[in-house]
Amino acid sequence: AQERYASIRDLPAKALCGSVVGLHMNAGLLADLPSLGPSGAEGVGLFRTELQFLARNAVPRRGELASLYSRVMDSAEGRRVVFRTLDIGSDKVLPFMKREVEPNPALGWRAIRVGLDKKGVMRMQLQALIRAAAGRPLAVMFPFIAQFEEFKEARQRLLDEVALEERRGSAVPARLEIGAMLETPSLAYAPRQFYEMADFISIGGNDLKQFFFAADRENERVRRRYDTLNVSYLTFLEHIVERCADTGTPLSFCGEDAGRPVEALAFAAMGLRALSMRPASIGPVKSLLRRVNLDEARACIDEARGSGAQSVRSALRDWLRVQD
Ligand code: PEP
Ligand code: MG
Repeated sequence: AQERYASIRDLPAKALCGSVVGLHMNAGLLADLPSLGPSGAEGVGLFRTELQFLARNAVPRRGELASLYSRVMDSAEGRRVVFRTLDIGSDKVLPFMKREVEPNPALGWRAIRVGLDKKGVMRMQLQALIRAAAGRPLAVMFPFIAQFEEFKEARQRLLDEVALEERRGSAVPARLEIGAMLETPSLAYAPRQFYEMADFISIGGNDLKQFFFAADRENERVRRRYDTLNVSYLTFLEHIVERCADTGTPLSFCGEDAGRPVEALAFAAMGLRALSMRPASIGPVKSLLRRVNLDEARACIDEARGSGAQSVRSALRDWLRVQD
């Protein structure tokens, strides 16, 4: 499929109105990195770090992780890689960690909540990331931040580790970007200071959508009821776009929906300028974005929103049919 889009691989996802959307890839293994070039991705917008923890019976060693992260950065050849700290719990259960049975694991002790409570594991991972970067830029994002305080604390831990390394005389990252994943509706309404403090924000649409509609992402029966192009959801995304624009906070979207061309078009039309997706989706998404005018797509969405429709999907599909 990548051959099909080879002719646009090195071209930007520039829409007819002139807006450019940055397309990045999601990854979780060193073996994913060779897709970076052929897919035409600008970088890795989400590197999930769970797999190295899930695939074994003990906590991985700091040295092992540092060497893996360093090889990931080597393979990216200077392109940006956003490392997401350990996101366990809910659908991702560590074989070696004792945990209580939770009635609602998706709403339970997971992701940054575990990281903040289990200080040692998060510290080890942050140290591995700092060591891997050594003299190179480092971008870290914390998953499942529900309130400003959690981001502040996680960010401070990372800054403290960097300061410690510096005092030890070790090489530290040349530049540090610290971001948050917006996966809970609460974070969209966090104080302005949160938006100012975050170097970037990435919408984790898989989780955000499940919490927005109160519909389990693992449960096909309820998941399918709610369209990503639902008017309420798009209006909510618009609110996040506006808040980020207000504070100049770079915003991206890294859930699976970013890789679906019509969804990607809607997100871009709502003002999102960076999307991260599986490598195979980059060609199809870019191909679509290059042949449309986002202002006109936005007008189509706004008209559908004004009509009282539940979803803008059919309006957007009809509109797409009469392009080119
Ligand atoms: C998300 O929630 O959209 C996301 C990117 O993270 P994950 O799918 O790993 O929860
Ligand atoms: Mg998530």
